Amino acid sequence: GFKSRITVVGSGNWGSVAAKLIASNTLKLNSFHDEVRMWVFEETLPSGEKLTDVINRTNENAKYLPGIKLGKNVIADPDLDNAVKDANMLVFVTPHQFMEGICKRLVGKVSGDVEAISLIKGMEVKMEGPCMISTLISEQLGINCSVLMGANIANEIAVEKFSEATVGYRDNREIAEQWVQLFSTPYFMVTPVQDVEGVELCGTLKNVVAIAAGFVDGLDMGNNTKAAIMRIGLREMRAFSKLLFSSVRDSTFFESCGVADVITTCLGGRNRKVAEAFAKNGGKRSFDELEAEMLQGQKLQGVSTAREVYEVLSHRGWLELFPLFATVHEICIGHLPPSAIVEYSEKKPRLS
Ligand code: NAD
Ligand code: 13P
Repeated sequence: GFKSRITVVGSGNWGSVAAKLIASNTLKLNSFHDEVRMWVFEETLPSGEKLTDVINRTNENAKYLPGIKLGKNVIADPDLDNAVKDANMLVFVTPHQFMEGICKRLVGKVSGDVEAISLIKGMEVKMEGPCMISTLISEQLGINCSVLMGANIANEIAVEKFSEATVGYRDNREIAEQWVQLFSTPYFMVTPVQDVEGVELCGTLKNVVAIAAGFVDGLDMGNNTKAAIMRIGLREMRAFSKLLFSSVRDSTFFESCGVADVITTCLGGRNRKVAEAFAKNGGKRSFDELEAEMLQGQKLQGVSTAREVYEVLSHRGWLELFPLFATVHEICIGHLPPSAIVEYSEKKPRLS
């Protein structure tokens, strides 16, 4: 029978873990080729070796996921065109700011019957308004694109600690089931939900809430305050998602992609960690500087997402409806002190 070929586009912290999950399954499932290609944004390590060569020699991503074997059937490839050639299923997992460029390079290189899934938490804001990353992929490449989001701190899944995730799909349940099969392991439980916009907006917006939670940690405000920020953040996530897409379902916010991702990211994520340092420094050191110093090449999504959300809010006259989202951005750009996160969030959200 027909066997699908998988390519993972991206090889950062989560990209590498995604390749590991998939590679363990392609070995077991007859409907997939064993080999999983992984496109690597090439770089030279301090040793002088290319990252791709290190991954293919040691089977580990020494820079973004050291100490974890990816599976011998993961083949790193620095050539994007070559990596996607012949694949029928594409998994996109890069920081969201690079996806516009990647899509441009892929135009005309991917056949229309390829199925894609995005694990990317973020969005683009264009003249016409906000554009989700799955929509960018779908429109630029002329292919269908599902999403996978959830409470998924990559380093925990890398060592096979149990977690859940949500696949969001548009209308083809069979395709959703294929993605569920490709990602599921005894320690990674995946549930399909027919609400692609809701699932993707959850993953995107929770990074803004995580920045707020980090500020609260940096100010030593305690657990009640942090819980309040998480609750208000979740409300704003739901209100914003429903204003953008009336089809978004309430139940989506109770899936792993919703409340569970808010919790894990606000407790243990990178956005939280760097925002805590930002607040501890009284906003005197920039996020760019702290990110470079603290994350060894890994990328934050929350700061740029806060800016993107703010653009949408100001353009549509919604700033007053979303005090938490708006305040996070104003703190990030230095217009307000970190302490404003609690002062401003006391305002009751005005949406039910
Ligand atoms: P990461 O934060 O480790 O980012 C670094 C990656 O970006 C590296 O692969 C690097 O080579 C690449 N890169 C740097 N410059 C580039 C360029 N100019 N063009 C293309 N690529 C470039 O990446 P990640 O953790 O795999 O995150 C990818 C997405 O997955 C993000 O949207 C993130 O929010 C999401 N996510 C991450 C986690 C996690 O725990 N790490 C969990 C769930 C979702
Ligand atoms: P951070 O990027 O803040 O680490 O969040 C990771 C994540 O998305 C967990 O689900």
